[in-house]
Amino acid sequence: MPSFVPKLVLIQKSALEYPLGRDLKKRFENRGIELLVYEKRVPPLPRASFGERFQLGKRTLAVSVRQAREFQSCRPSAHYQLPLVSGCPGYCEYCYLNTNLGQSPYVKVYVNVDEILHRAAAYTEQRRPDRTVFEGAATSDPVAVEGWTGALLRAVEFFALLPGAEFRFVTKYTDVESLLGARHSGKTTVRFSINCESIMNKFERGVPRLRSRLEAAKETAGAGYPLGFLIAPIFALDGWRREYEKLLLTVKRNIPEDTPLTFELITHRFTDRARKIIRQAYPGTNVPLDDKDRVFKFGQFGYGKYVYPQELMEELKEFFQTRINELFPLATILYFV
Ligand code: SF4
Repeated sequence: MPSFVPKLVLIQKSALEYPLGRDLKKRFENRGIELLVYEKRVPPLPRASFGERFQLGKRTLAVSVRQAREFQSCRPSAHYQLPLVSGCPGYCEYCYLNTNLGQSPYVKVYVNVDEILHRAAAYTEQRRPDRTVFEGAATSDPVAVEGWTGALLRAVEFFALLPGAEFRFVTKYTDVESLLGARHSGKTTVRFSINCESIMNKFERGVPRLRSRLEAAKETAGAGYPLGFLIAPIFALDGWRREYEKLLLTVKRNIPEDTPLTFELITHRFTDRARKIIRQAYPGTNVPLDDKDRVFKFGQFGYGKYVYPQELMEELKEFFQTRINELFPLATILYFV
């Protein structure tokens, strides 16, 4: 059974013209889940406090047809986002999606998967002879709904046969069984998002624990997928060296030594808007959001964000580079930001 079971399902009428839309409708009806068919725009959540709407949104699945043809870019992890899913049913207080989805934190899946994949093929064609990398988790955790849609499995097998294209996604969920037998040709990299114990205990809810994620990671590598870990967001809280050292040692103990891992390292940062939304969604949150401890950095899209001061960033970078190189001689650090 999929680990995410919505309380309310909103299905766009035109989604029922697709086999996946009809199949989802039937499965949700069979399970007695409240279901509403809508015409064009996802109906607004009921008038209620932000917190109540946020909670309901997280338990609502919208099933729709993706209209926009263009894909967003996706630096630094890939060239393009692959828009199969948006949103996530998890409750990580620091989550960047809190800002992206703001007032409408629905989990949304698209039923026109073939059209989306064919668009990806067109982008790949345009960029030849350069390779093109697609990120399946830029605005979602797609594994959370994979048990319903099977869209990742289709994407994995599609990219396996598409010359010049690669696929990658990152998750905290562990419903990877259906992907283990996929024909992936080593062209999909599966990354698991992990963090040190105190951060996971304090700020992550509704997502599998570290032990389960590492178990799923081991199975994924065993099935021949390139495997990676995303350590994010890295918080420089008291005792961070000790905590992250423990995390790296736990990964080392659980993943076979001959696995050629990749690591992506992202320090915590926030915008004014993110801070406001996180405080509304999680009143009394202890996510460190005090700008006194940060420096303000202008971003490429015209708004700025608060990041750790340069000296501390250097310390963090040095620590992760040194310890990853020592503990995982076969690993590659893709980026530290
Ligand atoms: Fe956000 Fe990832 Fe947590 Fe989902 S699992 S709430 S996408 S941080």
